[in-house]
Amino acid sequence: GSAPAAVGAATPMMEQFIEIKAANPDCLLFYRMGDFYELFFEDAEIASRALGIVLTKRGKHQGHDIPMCGVPVHAADDYLQKLIGLGHRVAVCEQIEDPAEAKKRGSKSVVKRDVIRLVTPGTITEDRLLAPSESNFLMALGRVKGGSESSYALAWIELSTGVFRVAETNAEALAADIFRVDPRELIVAEPVFHDEELKPLFDMIGRMASPQPPSLFDSASAPGRIARFYGVATPDSFGTFSRAELSAISGVVAYVEKTQKAERPPLSRPEREQAGSTLFIDPATRANLELLRTMSGGRDGSLIKAVDRTVTGAGARLLADRLMSPLTDPKAINARLDSVAFFASESRLCQGLRAALKEAADMPRALTRLALNRGGPRDLGALRSGFEAALALRTLFADAELPAELKAALDAISALPIRFADHLGAALADELPLLRRDGGFVRAGYNAELDEMRALRDEARKVIAAMERELIEETGIRSLKIRHNNVLGYYIEVTANHQALMMGSDAAKARFIHRQTMANAMRFTTTELAEMETKIANAADRALAIELSVFDALTAEAVGHADAIRSGATALAVLDVSAALAVLASAEAWRRPVVDDSLAFEISGGRHPVVEQALRRMAGAPFVANDCDLSPEQGGRHGAIWLLTGPNMGGKSTFLRQNALIAILAQTGSFVPAKSARIGVVDRLFSRVGASDDLARGRSTFMVEMVETAAILNQAGERALVILDEIGRGTATFDGLSIAWAAVEYLHEKNCCRAIFATHFHEMTALAGKLERLHNVTMRVKEWEGDVVFLHEVAKGAADRSYGVQVARLAGLPDAVVQRARDVLHQLEAGETSGKADRLVDDLPLFSAVVKREEPKPAKTDALGAALSAINPDELTPREALEALYRLKEMA
Ligand code: ADP
Repeated sequence: GSAPAAVGAATPMMEQFIEIKAANPDCLLFYRMGDFYELFFEDAEIASRALGIVLTKRGKHQGHDIPMCGVPVHAADDYLQKLIGLGHRVAVCEQIEDPAEAKKRGSKSVVKRDVIRLVTPGTITEDRLLAPSESNFLMALGRVKGGSESSYALAWIELSTGVFRVAETNAEALAADIFRVDPRELIVAEPVFHDEELKPLFDMIGRMASPQPPSLFDSASAPGRIARFYGVATPDSFGTFSRAELSAISGVVAYVEKTQKAERPPLSRPEREQAGSTLFIDPATRANLELLRTMSGGRDGSLIKAVDRTVTGAGARLLADRLMSPLTDPKAINARLDSVAFFASESRLCQGLRAALKEAADMPRALTRLALNRGGPRDLGALRSGFEAALALRTLFADAELPAELKAALDAISALPIRFADHLGAALADELPLLRRDGGFVRAGYNAELDEMRALRDEARKVIAAMERELIEETGIRSLKIRHNNVLGYYIEVTANHQALMMGSDAAKARFIHRQTMANAMRFTTTELAEMETKIANAADRALAIELSVFDALTAEAVGHADAIRSGATALAVLDVSAALAVLASAEAWRRPVVDDSLAFEISGGRHPVVEQALRRMAGAPFVANDCDLSPEQGGRHGAIWLLTGPNMGGKSTFLRQNALIAILAQTGSFVPAKSARIGVVDRLFSRVGASDDLARGRSTFMVEMVETAAILNQAGERALVILDEIGRGTATFDGLSIAWAAVEYLHEKNCCRAIFATHFHEMTALAGKLERLHNVTMRVKEWEGDVVFLHEVAKGAADRSYGVQVARLAGLPDAVVQRARDVLHQLEAGETSGKADRLVDDLPLFSAVVKREEPKPAKTDALGAALSAINPDELTPREALEALYRLKEMA
């Protein structure tokens, strides 16, 4: 806390800092001081730790040293990236007047400063802060309380593409809907954020979720706020939105205003996403299937890594977004499949397209930077390269018979502002500097005055070179040079031994004006040189001013065409994705799936795309393709359940996952890793695969498994696809078996969905006799000289044994243990029905201690315990303690 009195006692600069910091309490404040951004107080401590930079101090506040650290302005992006990655938000505070102005007001006066931008994970635009192939969504959660039920909505934007979506949701689907979009930042009104019921959700999201003032989300003032943002009279023309939707949209708009201050990114109008138009995948399933990241967080080993063959950043982002939100409408899915099929059969066009796209830079992100006044010449260059690619494509596709989606894309490309493209081409030089203030980005011949100024500047340089030659002749000093630096400008330099020559006479003194004496050199100027210098400086200044005005004009023109440029860029991304999927399909021998509104699920020769590619890289055994058929029987109404048994390591999880992935890929509009596939659209996909440990949140593996299973049984309808692996593993055998048993019955009788259920409980295969749509399948294995060989082949029927002991042997368990386990297993299997364990212990006394480990502790431990409790450590000298320890050791 900083009481007003204390603020009064601070230096004027500290006073200013404290005031600005108070207005941005949840951000680290980057306070501009010359060539550095400096951080003070707690911010400095946080940043120095996070960035590994030195913590120093500057002055005192309330009698204490003020901790401080700083980062150089030119390297600020790197530091920002690190801080944003760690979930921090940064307020960038700049000097907003020339320091000379402040001096005029008096010597004590501080330079005016203000926060010009908040840098937050969801609102960054710099290429160096963004991953080129990942979308960067900012999402707002809106909630409106009404009666007993609250209604929820989500709104999200991608600043770089201008995408703005909104969708209603409910408490049950909230988590799934958030994770589908996978935002980098989720903003929530404070009271909602602190709602006990939602705590698990925000815990799961972690620090990407941030509480914000409720006023941002006020649904009553939302229409006004939205209208102002878009410069329209009312947002009614955008569609009618529910109050929760308005609240979420308002949250996004207000947050953009809050973080971008004076600048406005070119956002599309909010577009409502139809409920149920995308495949529902709950968060656990999403994590399990490792679509964009593996469970350990990396991209290697994820589905996207295995399928992404795009050549542009925007294409890669679109593909990832599509994978995260597969469709449910067969028409829309087939339209996408038509596009892929087109490129699969037109390899010349496909290759030509990719060659053209490779040359195109990231148009949408460049456009956003330009609109936010953060652009540079290379962003204009990015637009130019995009236009060039577009032009090439129009020629390439001139005679092609395109399917609907591609035709629409080409129309959008044809609608790109061609005049502006020409203008850019004429105005921009071939090589572009990073910063506009570097100049030199306007093409020669574009602006007559600029050409003149450049000529003058170049001419003057030539004149100076001539001047140098003349001066050498005049003075006879062969080593005389005319040089330039930023302090003196142009000057004449001679070595110190020529002093007499240059300053010896009044005439010489009048001619050579002394500027500086160095250790072994002297510097002078002349009237002519000073005149030339002014001329050059003026010309350069004028040239830069002209270039900057050209830049501003081009930027304004780009922003004026923002809508058309964005649609064109999206169209390029659509082309990229379609062609990339075709390339993938032909390289990996994928086939077009039949997608319709039946309840079929018939995969022949299906493969797991990630495992298959990994096996190929390791050049080991090839992947074994497997069929899967969960379609309803002839005349039947519901899909089937496959009960999959087989030993560990047999390939059960791989098979389960591959079928879920094939469904996702098909509904994304991709060909699939199979010989053929027919899929009646899945509306909800659930999986419980592997033990996703959640111990950090204080829930046992078993508890997590049960919570997830409960969600599936409560939500799966007949159109769902359910993939369950080893339910009931985390508890005692009979508990586990009973739960798995009951779950399968429920899936069959109540959910009536298509499902694959893998289990190591062989007892469950008996269910096939009772449940008509349940079929037993097993992973085949072969026994060979006492070893087990996994064939990775799914076959009809039940596994005859579990081969656990053989697998244990393969894993390198000591021979004695393996042999012993064989004996135990033999006895158990012989015992079958009667009270087994007891008899085992009698028959096999060797291991009784292990089996009976729950029995009362042996007497020895008790004596030890008694001795221990007799000791009172507080009363022992160190020596006595040592003796006691020896005694205890002896008893053990
Ligand atoms: P389970 O779930 O039965 O324990 P996994 O699915 O984890 O078995 O598979 C174990 C290993 O077997 C995998 O890591 C993979 O290398 C290999 N594997 C699985 N399925 C196949 C297959 N169809 N073809 C070839 N190898 C496979």
